[in-house]
Order: sequence, then C-alpha cells, then structure tokens
Amino acid sequence: MPRSSEILISGTIIYGDDFQTLEGYISIRDGIIKEVGREKVDADFEGIVCPRFVNAHVHVGDSAFKDPPFLPLSDLVGPGGLKSCLLEKTPRDLLIEGMRRSLLDMAATGTFAFADFREGGEQGVKMLLEAQQGLPLISRILGRPQYNETEIPKECWGLGISSTRDHELELLKRAVAWARRAGQVVAIHAGEAGNDDIADALRLEPDFLVHLNCASQEDLNSVAKAKIPVVVCPRSNLVTGVGLPDVLRMLDLGITVGVGTDNVMLNSPNMFEEMQLLAKALLHDDRQVFKMCTLNGAKIMGIDQRAGSICEGKEARVMVINGRSNNLWGSQGPLASIVRRARPSDIVAVF
Ligand SMILES: [Zn+2]
Repeated sequence: MPRSSEILISGTIIYGDDFQTLEGYISIRDGIIKEVGREKVDADFEGIVCPRFVNAHVHVGDSAFKDPPFLPLSDLVGPGGLKSCLLEKTPRDLLIEGMRRSLLDMAATGTFAFADFREGGEQGVKMLLEAQQGLPLISRILGRPQYNETEIPKECWGLGISSTRDHELELLKRAVAWARRAGQVVAIHAGEAGNDDIADALRLEPDFLVHLNCASQEDLNSVAKAKIPVVVCPRSNLVTGVGLPDVLRMLDLGITVGVGTDNVMLNSPNMFEEMQLLAKALLHDDRQVFKMCTLNGAKIMGIDQRAGSICEGKEARVMVINGRSNNLWGSQGPLASIVRRARPSDIVAVF
C-alpha cells in the first residue's frame, strides 16, 4: 500500500508500454513512479492518468514571427527564404523571448521532452539554453552544419541537417564524421518537398529522418531495411502544402514513428492537435497514435528507459486529465478521447 508522503493519483491509468487502461492508482515518490495498483485509495488527484508527450521534432527558434503568409516550402524555410531573413532581422532578446514562451507553452500543453533543430551555430545553441533555464523540460539540441567548420557545439546532442539538397554532400559527410567522432547523433529532414534527397540522406546513415511525406514505397522499404526511425509532422506538411506521410505503411514496415510539431512559426507546439490530425486523417488507431506521441518519441530521443510510459521505476512524467470536463463528459473510451478530443484545458495537473 502507498505511504502517506507519496503523491497519489487515482482514476483510469493509461498503463505500460502497450497503453492499456486500468482502474486504480499510481503513487509517485521523488519524481519516480513507485507503485501502480488496483485498490481504491484516498488520492491527491483524480482523473485519467497518462504519460506526457515527446515532441520529437520542433524548431523553437522561429517563435518570434508566427503565422506568415502561406508560401511554398522553399520560400518559407529554405535557404534565403522568409524564415532566414526574419531570423537575421530579429534582435537576440526577442528570439530568446519567443523560444521561452514556446517552451512554457509546450510544458503547459503536456510535453515533457523535445528535440530541436537549432539554427545559428553556437550562438543559436546558447540562446536556446538561455531560454530553457529553470524549465523542467528534457531537451535534445541538434545543431546545423556550418560552412566554415564542421564541428558541432558540444552542448548539442547532435547534428540536424535541413536537407541533403541544401549542402554539398562532401561537407555533410565531414560534418557527419565529426558528429560520429564526438559520439553525437545525426538527424536529417528528408522527403519533404520531393523524394530526391532521400537516397543521399540514407547514405549518411542517420539516427533518424524527419518528414518522408513524399517517400515512395521503395524509399520506405529502404528506410525500414536500414532500421531508421522517422519523425512525422503532419500539421506542418499541411501548412506547406507538401502532402501527408503514409504513416500506416511506415508502421506496417516496422518503422519506429515519432511525431513532431516542426516550426513554431507555422504551428503551435501543442501535441494534442498533432494527435487529433494523425488519428482522424492518417491512422484510425488511437493506441498507436498515442504511442507515437509518447514512447516512440522517447525511443528516438534515447530516453525510453526512463520515461515515455507509465511503468513502475520510470520517471513520473505524467499528466492528469479531467475525464468529466465539459469537453470529455460522455466519453466511451478514455484513450480514444485523449487522442481525438482532449485539449490542454482538460489537464488537471502535470508532473
Ligand atoms: Zn523541421
């Protein structure tokens, strides 16, 4: 039985790595899930208890200039496009302010970990670290390859490449070699505006790919064969008009698929919205969608042993949802309603 100094949450628990629902309680001590039980307890919180989200691909650096006109992808975020002009023009303190607000928004909308593609070299990395100070979020920063040097700032988790189309392959090979020597990971945007950059991306043997909405069946076969995880960002794909990824096919091939909200300038970093779109437009499978937005993202970020699902001994990165809110009242299935209908205002508490 739980001890009195522990935090107790009772209700419907979305439990384990297969996200089954059980009625009972969880107890938390020192930030760790100590116990999951089926008895009735006198709890501190009550509701639907589920793991928090992992946003496996985001650019928080462009948070200071949201919702630009609808433009083709290359005009928006390509080299010399609107984003790079705005980044250059915007004062440092405003960029940091934008990042900080996005991080606060992520925490408030249920996310506990994120992987950021970071522009601006060492300075860009410093800005994000400054913006994140004191916030209880796990971050993984992926720095861009630089033209004058191939080394990535040591604070980075690794290298984040925009597209193999944007750089000479030789430069990328050197940057990837640097990253590997430093024990860093490599992630690449691929198959976003077309599928012509996927083969080069695979040649660089990345740890994961982002997008693949334009991937052909053959491309996906190659990605699956190489056992490379993929992060999809469907709302971003809608804004840029590049088409949606074949998530069903990716999963059928056994690819580990995570989810990201991509550029904050194009979409809020709210994972509830990403889940709804995924479940309604791409994959009528609530459990799989929820797993993609939690445990799969944690796997891709290398933190699935400590978080990403509710299991005894894992960190209590959980949230409590009010199943009796006006929005969720009458639900026939807690997991389905979290995936398809819940929103940040339904959150009672985050841990
Ligand atoms: Zn991106």
